[in-house]
Amino acid sequence: MGGIIAVIFLGVCAGMAAAGVPTMALIFGLMVVFRLGIRGTWAEYAHLGAPRDACDAWDCWALARTVRLKAHGADFASSISIFSAGPPRMSFFTSKKPRVRLARWSLYLSTGLAFGAVLIPLFLGACVFSAPGYNGPVSDHFDGERFHNLEPFGEKSFGDVMKWRWTSSKTPWPDKRGLPPGPPPPRRVEGEELRVTFVNHATVLIQTAGLNILTDPVWSERTSPVSWAGPKRQKDAGILYEDLPPIDLVVISHNHYDHLDIATLKKLSADHAPLILVPLGNAALLQANGIANARDLDWWESVDVAPGVRATFTRCQHWSSRGTRDRFKTLWGGFAFETPGGLVYYSGDTGFGTFYNEVRERFGRPRLALLPIGAYEPRWFMKSAHQNPEEAVQAHNVLQPLVSLGVHWGTWQLTDEGMDAPVVALDAALENAGLTPEDFWVLDNGQGRDVPAMP
Ligand SMILES: [Zn+2]
Repeated sequence: MGGIIAVIFLGVCAGMAAAGVPTMALIFGLMVVFRLGIRGTWAEYAHLGAPRDACDAWDCWALARTVRLKAHGADFASSISIFSAGPPRMSFFTSKKPRVRLARWSLYLSTGLAFGAVLIPLFLGACVFSAPGYNGPVSDHFDGERFHNLEPFGEKSFGDVMKWRWTSSKTPWPDKRGLPPGPPPPRRVEGEELRVTFVNHATVLIQTAGLNILTDPVWSERTSPVSWAGPKRQKDAGILYEDLPPIDLVVISHNHYDHLDIATLKKLSADHAPLILVPLGNAALLQANGIANARDLDWWESVDVAPGVRATFTRCQHWSSRGTRDRFKTLWGGFAFETPGGLVYYSGDTGFGTFYNEVRERFGRPRLALLPIGAYEPRWFMKSAHQNPEEAVQAHNVLQPLVSLGVHWGTWQLTDEGMDAPVVALDAALENAGLTPEDFWVLDNGQGRDVPAMP
């Protein structure tokens, strides 16, 4: 294989991941035109006496050197350069034949597009989408530039991403758009009463003590830096945005696009002016987008958010990035809400880890635990950052909450497993652990449920 195929292959690999299918279809289309044009050059050799099938071994990717022709007759040369001028040879790069010209321009354009598919996303990702990094004192999980997990974490390279893209077999997801939304949630839930509403993915409305809390709110269509590409919703948000009760507090677990959605936060900020608690480094991003009331929190830092309600940012196993140059530059985590009605805990987007023991030791037994159950296949790639349903049940067993709720599934296809696979796997894991669906809830899109009181 020559240099051209290496360049195009690289472009196609990165382009597939970064630019999406339409650009790739265009590139491949142009490659086909290129190939057809090259076939036209056979006619150039006809006068040499070569039969048509004599040309079946040419290697169009090695054009920079030669087109190899299989000799059928003793009088036919086995290798003829097509780049040298003069009959009986012809130059691919100077030929005026329409078909060869078409092939030539197809080669130029497809190579350019393949390059563009690599360079443009890299450039944009580096310059536009990357979030500002955190500036602050060094700690046991911040080295002055990057944050890191306290437990072993298998950081994935660009090569791993490519390997996943090329070796993955995604289970296709059905389109579940257009399902009727859930009923409007109550305006307030007072005292020790506790109600939870699953909007979908990691967006959950928690209502207790007269306080309305939203976790990782996303009402946008795509989880992506741009509105025209990236994972698209396969279920509408389960609660209409207009049906939301007044929102007092928003908590953000980390800056991935399926958790920190600037468009939704802008709207919430304008309509409800909530306090927004974010992991270290993210307040700057929100401020830069004109979103007020954002406050950075480090692991185990607490804020009194209302009389009798305290929110603490908790440790978990994950990572962060919004572009190509900001990996690990802002923090990630979960939240523990100490309320008059008991502890409500959201683990954040996370792999399984011993931090669950620490949460249990620091806060005691939760009344409600929101635990991710989706986005876990293939395991070799996802395990460090995303627990699977089996691990979610292990987490449930460590925390011993009155009830858990499975989140982070069924809305955007981010990984290889099927849309409802997390629910099926959770059922099996619960049964293996001697638990029931009453212990670990899965709510429908937009479904709300009152959480029983602690015994
Ligand atoms: Zn994430």
